[in-house]
Amino acid sequence: MSKTMSINAGSSSLKWKLYDMPQETVLASGIVERIGLADSIFTIDYYNGKRYEVTLAIAEHETAVRLLLEQLIQLSIISEFSEITGVGHRVAAGGESFSDSVVITPAVLEEIQRLAELAPLHNPANAMGIRAFKNILPEITSVAVFDTSFHQTMDKTRYLYSIPMEYYKEHNVRKYGYHGTSHKYVSERAAVLLKKPLEKLKLISCHLGNGASVCAIEGGKSVDTSMGFTPLAGLTMGTRSGDIDVSILPYLMEKESISDINEMIWILNNQSGLKGISSVSSDMRDLHALEDSDEQAALALRIFEDRVKKYIGAYAALMDGVDAIIFTAGIGENDIQTRKNIVDGLSYLNAELSDERNDCRGVERVISSNQSAVQILLIPTDEEVMIARDVERLR
Ligand code: AMP
Repeated sequence: MSKTMSINAGSSSLKWKLYDMPQETVLASGIVERIGLADSIFTIDYYNGKRYEVTLAIAEHETAVRLLLEQLIQLSIISEFSEITGVGHRVAAGGESFSDSVVITPAVLEEIQRLAELAPLHNPANAMGIRAFKNILPEITSVAVFDTSFHQTMDKTRYLYSIPMEYYKEHNVRKYGYHGTSHKYVSERAAVLLKKPLEKLKLISCHLGNGASVCAIEGGKSVDTSMGFTPLAGLTMGTRSGDIDVSILPYLMEKESISDINEMIWILNNQSGLKGISSVSSDMRDLHALEDSDEQAALALRIFEDRVKKYIGAYAALMDGVDAIIFTAGIGENDIQTRKNIVDGLSYLNAELSDERNDCRGVERVISSNQSAVQILLIPTDEEVMIARDVERLR
């Protein structure tokens, strides 16, 4: 029996889950938030609803990891550090270097840092988490699981942009896609739920959270996805614009007297999407609450649904059909109305929801009607367990 940690490190946070493997039992989970500030919040959830929470100054990730491990002993969740035999780290960008998860060596860590040019907000933070654990638990298996690697099966026809070829050859400019671990997890669960071999299925996975992407999965392999070179592309998201005509950028920079392109990109990442359209919130719950009284809030919801429908249509066309459409992540798992509004627009696929089955949140189930030609599935995602599984596989 081995205990494995699944880690998602952000620039000021560290989210974690501790598993007993191979049973995949969650022993504890938690988050350290506001790292670097005087009032960092440190939480551990364990044993049937118990919670340990404390606010204190945590200067850096390594201190957070040390505190976390010591507290796991204090709470008798582990008896010594050596019980933890593996740790898996979520890493945003693996570029073309990593088409699968890997054991982290000094060369791998160096490459993750080099790939920060593809994910400047995420990879450096992920690397910080990796170094923190390496310094404290140098002997245990340490594995990197990339958001991009599932999409490395895409064909050139899908991942190349229609720009001069030397930009790909010299600078690796191409579509990488993200959320790969989630799309992979839900596709595997879909095969179980449908009792069909994954190799025989055409699936469209809609990961609809604050960040959102759609993925076309044929025979268990990603064949196209809506995010691009960075996670800015594709669907309308909480605060990200999704697809946009890039000519808008210089036009707006002139009109708004913005001299720095990075400011424009920041606006597209942080002030756009649902938040930008509605002018009030990036959160679907807020928008639904305002839907009847606020035109912009309603418009944001309609645009969100519209973009999801558009990608579903595009991917059904690319795969020449679809067996099942999957909804996952915060919105996909919980937003009953949005799921209904999306599927109501798919009658040309003879896809139909069962209102009764759709009336639920966060449970794995078929939500289409018995007459529906396409199965509609609600599958709560679990990226953490995928990370823990990869640690076990590579240990
Ligand atoms: P995620 O990034 O996967 O955590 O998803 C976050 C998003 O899920 C939030 O921005 C909310 O808009 C959405 N969400 C969570 N719970 C609900 C709910 N009960 N109804 C509608 N949307 C929800």
